[in-house]
Amino acid sequence: MADARAPEDTTATPPDCLFCRLVAGEVPADVVVEGGRTLAFRDIDPQAPTHVLVVPREHHADVGALAAVDADLLAEVVRTAGEAAAVDGLTDHRLVFNTGPGAGQSVFHVHAHVLGGRRLAWPPG
Ligand code: 5GP
Repeated sequence: MADARAPEDTTATPPDCLFCRLVAGEVPADVVVEGGRTLAFRDIDPQAPTHVLVVPREHHADVGALAAVDADLLAEVVRTAGEAAAVDGLTDHRLVFNTGPGAGQSVFHVHAHVLGGRRLAWPPG
């Protein structure tokens, strides 16, 4: 028998999503770039002189979920990350999407970390 359930709406906003609340202005943010469909703001616990987070304004849990439904928006997140790096005068920087708790993801609204302004070791811990 066919599965009659509607496909999961990955853009639905969970009421407790920190970054949805931040995008809505309910949580304060040090904004670096305001993109049309994205927002870049400084991480509250910076791990480098530049540590900016870039989110799509609409909710997607992680980068894979976003890529599956809106590759253009993922490209915009990456473009905004480059603009945020440029605001701090950076050419060299690192772009990280932690995906899943085992990889360090703690906020389940996709975000790119933009890190730079110091020498970055590889591999990361
Ligand atoms: P994750 O661990 O999911 O890859 O990254 C989440 C990031 O969000 C962490 O680097 C953490 O410091 C940052 N963060 C957590 N709460 C807040 C907040 O309220 N404001 C800002 N600007 N960053 C936050």
